[in-house]
Amino acid sequence: MKILSVNAGSSSLKFQMYEMPEEKVLISGTFERIGIDGGMYTIKYNGEKKKTEREFSTHSEAVQVLIEELLNYKVIESLDEIKGVGHRIVHGGEHYTHSVVATEEVINDLTDISELAPLHNPANLTGIKAFQEKIPDALEVCCFDTAFHQTMNKKEFLYPVPYEWYEKYGVRKYGFHGMSHNYIALRTAEILNNPSARIISCHIGNGGSLCAIKDGKSIDTSMGFTPNAGLMMGSRSGDIDATLIPYIMGKTGETLEEVINDLNKKSGYLGVSGVSSDSRDIEEAAAAGNERAILSQEMYVEKIVNYIAEYYLELGGADAIVFTAGVGENSKDTRKAIVDKLAPLGIKIDEEKNNIRGEEALISTEDSSVKVYVIPTDEEVMIARDTYKFINE
Ligand code: ADP
Repeated sequence: MKILSVNAGSSSLKFQMYEMPEEKVLISGTFERIGIDGGMYTIKYNGEKKKTEREFSTHSEAVQVLIEELLNYKVIESLDEIKGVGHRIVHGGEHYTHSVVATEEVINDLTDISELAPLHNPANLTGIKAFQEKIPDALEVCCFDTAFHQTMNKKEFLYPVPYEWYEKYGVRKYGFHGMSHNYIALRTAEILNNPSARIISCHIGNGGSLCAIKDGKSIDTSMGFTPNAGLMMGSRSGDIDATLIPYIMGKTGETLEEVINDLNKKSGYLGVSGVSSDSRDIEEAAAAGNERAILSQEMYVEKIVNYIAEYYLELGGADAIVFTAGVGENSKDTRKAIVDKLAPLGIKIDEEKNNIRGEEALISTEDSSVKVYVIPTDEEVMIARDTYKFINE
């Protein structure tokens, strides 16, 4: 059975088509600059990538081209072979603890929740509508980034602010990257052959979050009401003292929106180093002796170590620490810097085993008190699995 796994952003659309239940990727691609000049799309098929320049004024036009390409590459002979389309939805609020079929009621509900994720949810919904229009017979499924974290206890998800803020306005920690942390939870439990394992999942990419997992469930996570909480990230500040916002507005004359934009787009690695939000550039600049790049690396590592230490205690110890996403899968130096700081807990890295990128590996020494792994994440397959489940019911 063929299933599409889709991630629609405000000007982009990424897809992977799976043969299920084998979980085989048949074809994948990315549409970029939808609704903006300079549109283009890339299709990856049989290990080859093909890039085409083409303008798209709407997501719907991109989906039309996607269908034409599926037919062109002969991945499908007719549209009715696509039984399901699973969509990544950033925010499911408190209501959605699992993936759901995109009924009209769900779509209305998500439109209401959109004020919690104004940059993401409307774009995700545009994606759903485009596929509903172009492939009306396929089952559309919503898979939420927040759902996995709905198992957190109140004492973990509440902020110490007036309680009515939670009751009236939904102010709480929601957590994100849920599909990734869930994938890591499942895969690590499988490797350890222990479904109740205590796992600290470190999803560190452009965005980043840590998750404390026990019995396959999220116990705590570092992102919060929005994805700009917790860790220092590529261009996001992570946790800050909220009072600096009015202070900077007063000093610079910036509007509230501008300061929030600074905290999302001009902070983190980029803000501290002044070099880049990309850890590869930071590593290069630090190696060349750029002091602010070195400082930004030290800060980046320290924030992650602090959360690992917190979750280690929260979980009453740990069976595994897992690195995933762009930085976690690829940067051996970042992994080493983090694990070296965990020495007081008896956690040790094996430098030779750590000398890998983008592949699954155990990277701790034999006498390390906690096993440390690199596991490439796979959010797309989680979407395909959930979508397949609904069709198979
Ligand atoms: P996103 O949050 O956008 O999904 P990714 O998980 O793809 O981000 O991570 C992207 C980041 O991963 C890049 O910005 C870069 O900092 C980092 N990265 C990717 N490859 C490498 C590498 N070889 N070495 C160090 N960092 C890398």
